[in-house]
Amino acid sequence: MRLLVDLNRCQGYAQCAFLAPDVFTMHGDEALLYTPHADPDQREKVERAVAACPVQAIVLDDRDDAAPAGAGDGGSGAR
Ligand code: SF4
Repeated sequence: MRLLVDLNRCQGYAQCAFLAPDVFTMHGDEALLYTPHADPDQREKVERAVAACPVQAIVLDDRDDAAPAGAGDGGSGAR
């Protein structure tokens, strides 16, 4: 489960940190730290946090975290 917080929107209300403390943590008064790849066990809590965020800053990406089978993304920048 992936998630993204729009930190420009986030007002540091800490609802998310209260509802899903394993995923969201307040650092000081305003800075939010979060785990972008949350454990599936946390889904219910994260969904509550998404619903509770007063500014809808949290976006949950429901696609599976399946790694994009490294299609030779080549770093061919050798000089
Ligand atoms: S609930 Fe929303 S506004 Fe509050 S800290 Fe979390 S993301 Fe930011």
